[in-house]
Amino acid sequence: MATTQRRLVLKQRPSGMPDADCFAMETTDLGAPESGQALIQVEHLSIDAFIRTALDEGSFHATVPIGGTVTALGVGRVLASASDALAPGDAVFGPLGAQSHLLMPAAALRKLDATDVPPRAYLGALGLTTGLTAWAGMVRVGEVREGNTVVVSAAAGAVGSVACEVARLRGARVIGIAGGPEKVRYLQDDLGCVAGIDYKNDDVGARLSELAADGIDVFFDNVGGEILDLVLDRMATGARIVICGAISQYHDMSAVRGPALYLRLAERNASMRGFTVTHHAGAFAEAEAELGGWLRGGDLHLRETIVEGIERFPEALNMLFTGGHIGKLLLKP
Ligand code: NAP
Repeated sequence: MATTQRRLVLKQRPSGMPDADCFAMETTDLGAPESGQALIQVEHLSIDAFIRTALDEGSFHATVPIGGTVTALGVGRVLASASDALAPGDAVFGPLGAQSHLLMPAAALRKLDATDVPPRAYLGALGLTTGLTAWAGMVRVGEVREGNTVVVSAAAGAVGSVACEVARLRGARVIGIAGGPEKVRYLQDDLGCVAGIDYKNDDVGARLSELAADGIDVFFDNVGGEILDLVLDRMATGARIVICGAISQYHDMSAVRGPALYLRLAERNASMRGFTVTHHAGAFAEAEAELGGWLRGGDLHLRETIVEGIERFPEALNMLFTGGHIGKLLLKP
């Protein structure tokens, strides 16, 4: 019996925020898996900022070709398998793409242990682009230590939420920056930040000066632009600035605004270091063990926002840039 696949393809490259004209929905009937393949039903897709840059020609992440299925990491369920590695009912993680079902080589999928956490946790708290990214950036790049004053930008988003919690659970005092009073409440009430700064309504510089009078030891930056300069001006001696991302800049990668106050690095004996999560693959087992322990022990409080319907994928992607979600943004096809 054929399985109907609904998938989102790229029709034209966006300029700025992608609109509905950039995409088209296609429907295909999938047959049975061939040798080595599995038929997967997609359960959740991770809505990630790299998907936006992958829509551009010459992207750092593999560019989506015109007519190609839009890139996305996801978790799904095996419906049928022609591989010894997977059986019907298994939960899997992989580069599933913006679609409802797919045939994929079993070797390209990771079989998940979803006995005490839902499979979608492997996109969120334990996910490559969320939990593992936050852990690698905060622990390995930021070298967060007990008693440090840590600032996180886009703190109420996916990576930011886990970055706040990793720092807090390792004994730091965490200040989160996010847009709007509801997000500030989430930072303080759910994530245990000592304070949240609402960059849309507060004077960020004045609030940082007040909350981190002795200087900031670690800045985990997801946003770039003006916020990076405001923090650079308030770093402690020996501070570490972690460049995780710069979401304020992704709509025009040919004109990224760099930090004007970079000489503060010299004045404060500070460092600014970027990373991509895959540079830290050697630490994934350690990261997953620590995050998994916290998650199962009830110490991680990453909220989820789940958008339903594969046709709403473009809308979900744009939410990353308009800030319409709290915590991990997922799509259920
Ligand atoms: P997310 O934080 O869940 O969503 C993005 C958030 O950014 C939004 O919720 C929005 O929150 C904020 N934002 C958007 N435009 C902004 C602007 N102009 N100024 C200030 N804030 C803005 O997304 P995510 O997937 O967790 O990604 C967060 C960052 O991590 C991104 O920069 C991404 O590229 C990076 N990342 C890096 C790696 C790596 O390997 N280095 C891996 C994964 C992700 P507000 O409502 O607060 O504005």
